[in-house]
Amino acid sequence: MSDVSGYHAMMEALLDSVPAATLAVDGNGNILQITSSRRRGAAWRFKKGKSFPRLLRLVFGAAADPLCEAYETAARTCQPVRLPRFEHETVRGLVEYFSWSFVPNCEDGSMAVCALNVTESVCLEQEFSAVSQQNAAANRDLLAAVSKLDFRLMDLDQAHKKLAALYRITSVGQRTADEDEVLDEIVAGITGEFGYACAAVLLLDEERQELVMKASRGYPPNVRLPYGRGITWHAVITREMVYVPDVSIDPRYIPAIGNGVSELAVPLIFADKVIGVLDVETTAERPLHAYDRDLIGSLAGQVALTIAHAKHVARVEVQAVTDGLTGLYNYRYFLAQLDHEFKRAARYSRPLSLILIDIDYFKRYNDNNGHSLGNEVLRQVAEVMRQASRDVDFAVRYGGEEFIVLLPETNLTEACAFAERLRSQIASQPFVGCEKQPGKSLTVSIGVSGFPFDARSDSELLEHADAALYLAKRTTRNCVMTYPAKSDGDGRPQATYG
Ligand code: GH3
Ligand code: MG
Ligand code: MG
Repeated sequence: MSDVSGYHAMMEALLDSVPAATLAVDGNGNILQITSSRRRGAAWRFKKGKSFPRLLRLVFGAAADPLCEAYETAARTCQPVRLPRFEHETVRGLVEYFSWSFVPNCEDGSMAVCALNVTESVCLEQEFSAVSQQNAAANRDLLAAVSKLDFRLMDLDQAHKKLAALYRITSVGQRTADEDEVLDEIVAGITGEFGYACAAVLLLDEERQELVMKASRGYPPNVRLPYGRGITWHAVITREMVYVPDVSIDPRYIPAIGNGVSELAVPLIFADKVIGVLDVETTAERPLHAYDRDLIGSLAGQVALTIAHAKHVARVEVQAVTDGLTGLYNYRYFLAQLDHEFKRAARYSRPLSLILIDIDYFKRYNDNNGHSLGNEVLRQVAEVMRQASRDVDFAVRYGGEEFIVLLPETNLTEACAFAERLRSQIASQPFVGCEKQPGKSLTVSIGVSGFPFDARSDSELLEHADAALYLAKRTTRNCVMTYPAKSDGDGRPQATYG
């Protein structure tokens, strides 16, 4: 009994601060002592001497099962048993929670039972867990929002870089038609904006079936890839973007830099034709991401357009100054160059000569051989002129079957020698149908004039060459004539050669 009182005293002390009930139960399961910190607990004192399990059944009904089991287990095993959260619905329909402890005294089989009302802490716990669940959910939402924002910012950054690259690519196309300049700006824009280690534009040489590197950053220069070689050729053949995340395991990879990791090759397609490849290679410091593929893929169309535009403009520019039949410069371009070269020659006191060439009896050639063979002769004569001319000379189709070569830095004597070489080469060339021409060969007559020797202005250069040619036609034809020199004073034709 004294032991039971001891338990009781201990429980009383415990109950001073916590709402609870304590019971002392003897070895037969009868209640020895009952104490409650609740007012209602006073009534329970009348339960002294009653069976504890029955009291449990009385108070909790069927819900008492786990309590009875815990009590029996504690009694049987002589080990304390605790039910930390026993749920109980009160008569007013409120849910309360009790922490039940069964502490057996192994010596006499008695037991101290303590029921602590933990409703408040359970509610707090539930509230806490609800709050922390809400917190976790809010955190998740926040994280999702932050990462979305991150993506947006990343998108913005990419969009900005893409726009900057696009601007560089398109604006260079508007600024210049110089293909080299355009291509260089394209690779500079792509490496500059996106930080790739290497970028290159390779254009397709259809005749030689080669990919020719026209502009690059990070790669060695002047690369020519024969048909089928490398990741770049694969992009041309398949007409698809080729992405190689790990070049070390791709047999198509041609190592051009020591530390390449990934390569991306995009075909440049214009008007359904592959014109080349845009190639990007990266190192471990700046790996390729999925968005790089989208980026480069979407830029490739504009790159192809810009290149095609530059080529078109260059072609138009060439056409504007070129004679369609012979490919020589046309009359309009000649006039501009004559003006320019004459001013330069006059300013720096440099010689400038002009030779005017007319095919002899060409009407007859046409009549005998037809106009299209006549055209072929015009092309061949033009080719002889082109071959004979230096880079600084201007070989021109002046009109019909008349040609001019403007010779900067050339005095009259040198021009006459040049004209003579031309004349004799043409005269000895076996043109088809030339046997019906007088002398059984196709020949030309040439008039030569030279600044400052016999012409003081650009128009005089032309007029005097024309006059010299006229004289050549009036004499033997198939010869080279100069304008009558002032020193002669009598205006006699000067047959220099022929
Ligand atoms: P020559 O100059 O020796 O006095 O005699 P020619 O027969 O050449 O006389 P002319 O210079 O007057 O005749 C020019 C001829 O060149 C007339 C025309 O049949 C021919 N011709 C001019 N332009 C072309 C052309 O584009 N194609 C062809 N096939 N013939 C042309
Ligand atoms: Mg003529
Ligand atoms: Mg003629």
